Amino acid sequence: MSVGADLALREDERARILAKAALFSPPSAELADGRRDLIGLSREDLAAALTELDLPAFRVKQVWHWIYHQGVRDFSRMSSIARPLQERLAERFVIARPEVARRHKSNDDSEKFLFRLRDAASVETVYIPDPVEDRGAVCLSSQVGCTLSCRFCHTGTQRLERNLSAAEIVGQFMALRDAYGEWPSPKGETPRLLSTIVLMGMGEPLYNYENVARAMTIIMDNEGIALSRRRITLSTSGVVPMMDRAGAELGVNLAVSLHAVRDDLRDELVPLNRKYPIAELIAACRRYPGASNARRITFEYVMLRGVNDSEADARELVRLIAGLPAKVNLIPFNPWPGSAFAPSTPVAIRRFAEIVMDAGYAAPVRTPRGRDILAACGQLRTEAAD
Ligand code: SAH
Ligand code: SF4
Repeated sequence: MSVGADLALREDERARILAKAALFSPPSAELADGRRDLIGLSREDLAAALTELDLPAFRVKQVWHWIYHQGVRDFSRMSSIARPLQERLAERFVIARPEVARRHKSNDDSEKFLFRLRDAASVETVYIPDPVEDRGAVCLSSQVGCTLSCRFCHTGTQRLERNLSAAEIVGQFMALRDAYGEWPSPKGETPRLLSTIVLMGMGEPLYNYENVARAMTIIMDNEGIALSRRRITLSTSGVVPMMDRAGAELGVNLAVSLHAVRDDLRDELVPLNRKYPIAELIAACRRYPGASNARRITFEYVMLRGVNDSEADARELVRLIAGLPAKVNLIPFNPWPGSAFAPSTPVAIRRFAEIVMDAGYAAPVRTPRGRDILAACGQLRTEAAD
């Protein structure tokens, strides 16, 4: 196929994926009392919302700063804004958070939050502290459920209820900052603990691209939360047409859930492979912008005993990613009740890792954290629905 035809095809596919995402739209940002949530609006949309009150541009900047830099939830705490204007804002708007329905701490110190959303849907977020340093990662969900049915994934057993809004995605992060007291203090100390984001919770982020993109743009905004794109990793099961767009528009780190190196096996484990087979997926990785040594693509590989963990698999993996700046995260399968797999043996994992490392790639073994509370990334579930 010519390059032009290939690009046109991807554009068509993108339009189709975005149209489908719209069928699973989140509920509106309006509360029962008619007030509107300001969280999740882009700067332009915030400005448009505030024009209802005839506010000049500098006020928009102030409100943004209070919401996203200081983390205030109450207009009355916006001390650079006069009381009458605070009151007018509060009459029309709110600065909401998803409600924490439950917190569950694992014995490895990761902590799972179950959020109840305005329409009573629930979603999970995990804080995963770095075992050595005084910081950690927040694992965000992007959808309630998932349309894809990867065989080893607990989320894959749930049907997709709906996409999360940008507000609900940013809101997970903001609610964790609330919970850990991680907003800048008046003394000017900056937050430390919640220092990276991984989009590895429930759902396929590239099937909810527009809301995920809006949320990440807010989180990266320099006058707000200001997390650098280098501290954000988006994990995809391989939605090829959207990978190009995410790379061009967001430029965040990319993680690809590979899990198998032959199409016949990947078709079974990650059924999306039937649409976007391995060769196309790897080609999309090679096109991904900024893939330099400093910003390697991460390949996630769930180690399933006797299924995808042979030495031949490892050698084929190395051949597939040859020349790509990459690292391979080996994740021993984290079993859940009713799952059909077992984790690979330590010997198999070691042999596999050695072959990958001998080829010059980092191949850390990532034992899922929060196993005891089913909080491991990619296997979150809404207990409320179980
Ligand atoms: N939908 C996206 C992001 C969420 S899944 C994706 O598939 O990439 C995040 C990661 O956890 C994926 O690599 C997924 O394959 C992995 N995962 C899912 N279930 C798992 C399990 N039971 N044990 C280990 N890893 C799992
Ligand atoms: Fe969905 Fe990712 Fe789970 Fe596959 S691994 S079912 S894409 S959440």
